[in-house]
Amino acid sequence: MRIKKGDNVKVIAGKDRGKTGKVIQAFPQLGKIVVENANMLKKHLRGKQKGQQGQVIEFSAPLSATNVLLICPKCAKPSRVGMKVLEDGKKGRTCKKCKEVIE
Ligand SMILES: [Zn+2]
Repeated sequence: MRIKKGDNVKVIAGKDRGKTGKVIQAFPQLGKIVVENANMLKKHLRGKQKGQQGQVIEFSAPLSATNVLLICPKCAKPSRVGMKVLEDGKKGRTCKKCKEVIE
């Protein structure tokens, strides 16, 4: 997966298309990420005891990593991410727009 926790991304599909936010959780094995303030869902919790009020909690649901573009920290544009082998032999991510290596 080319999107990591802490990345800033732009949502390009689904109901939150156009929104930008920070990745707060990543699930590489599922290909899913959680983006701050995107894909908000409401969950209704019933009161545990009789007479107690239930509550509604809002949370960001995971969305597919393919539905977002990374916002490149170098050129500040939403971009596809490429991979390349760096000088030290490690694989690094690169911005397809400005060709810079992204940490
Ligand atoms: Zn760039």
